[in-house]
Amino acid sequence: MSAKAQIRVIDHPLAAANLSILRAKTTEPDLFRRHLQELSVLLFIEASRGWGTAPIQVETPLDLCLGAVLAKPIVLVPILRAGLGMLDRIQRIAPDAAIGHIGLYRDAETLRPVSYYEKVPVNVTAAEVLLLDPMLATGNTACEAASILKAQGARSIQFLCIVACPAGVEQFQRDHSDVPILAAALDPALDDHGYIVPGLGDAGDRYFGTG
Ligand code: URA
Repeated sequence: MSAKAQIRVIDHPLAAANLSILRAKTTEPDLFRRHLQELSVLLFIEASRGWGTAPIQVETPLDLCLGAVLAKPIVLVPILRAGLGMLDRIQRIAPDAAIGHIGLYRDAETLRPVSYYEKVPVNVTAAEVLLLDPMLATGNTACEAASILKAQGARSIQFLCIVACPAGVEQFQRDHSDVPILAAALDPALDDHGYIVPGLGDAGDRYFGTG
């Protein structure tokens, strides 16, 4: 199966416009942060589209009516550090979500992920789990994070990213074919340093102004 067939890329004018601002090298960190957050919300809306609900009765000031609650709790898990950028605005529209953190950095030479922090909510087994990282580059970090979540009992996971590339998608689907990927773009290439091309550069550095 081709990489394209294994990933859902959102097709929305607001996503395209937000992404273009993120890609522009002249975009300053404050604007970069804002648009990365907006784009993350669009991804979240799409990821949650199929989630189950349970019926409840609601009393309005005028009458009783049928309402809904989410059938499962939500767990959001940003991969530190850049994944934090996707969390803020999603958390605002899902204020009951529990937040996990997975700290993985990429060894500059091997490009392999090294774990330095793992804290996953106890309700992860019963939850809709969204793993957040803006860039699906080699796929190594995302694969390791998904393995950590599964080891902690997560059963329903989606991986949300801003930009993916075919190498990352193939690696991720090889290890975690049960975890759908949702992205705002699938770019063509990965360079020798593990950066997605054209991509948007180093998402963490641009978000936190450390570049
Ligand atoms: N991480 C980033 O921040 N950007 C890339 O292009 C690849 C990995």
